[in-house]
Amino acid sequence: MGIFRLLTILLIAWLCYALYKRYLKNKSPKRPMKKGKNLENIVKCEHCAMHIPEHEAIVDKGRYYCSEEHKRISNKS
Ligand SMILES: [Zn+2]
Repeated sequence: MGIFRLLTILLIAWLCYALYKRYLKNKSPKRPMKKGKNLENIVKCEHCAMHIPEHEAIVDKGRYYCSEEHKRISNKS
């Protein structure tokens, strides 16, 4: 009885673990790259002139900023 119960618990635990792993795998599928890394557009922060990849930049009225902070400062003045 003792061993059988232990095995059942282990089996259920393993099943949960397997399902959880599967869930995680489905949750974050590999993103297909739209374009190569080399084609990444580099833009300049309007405030500090730092160069950043376009996808990391904050765009506001056609202008690029490296951070929310710089967007705010630039909009103030
Ligand atoms: Zn900046």
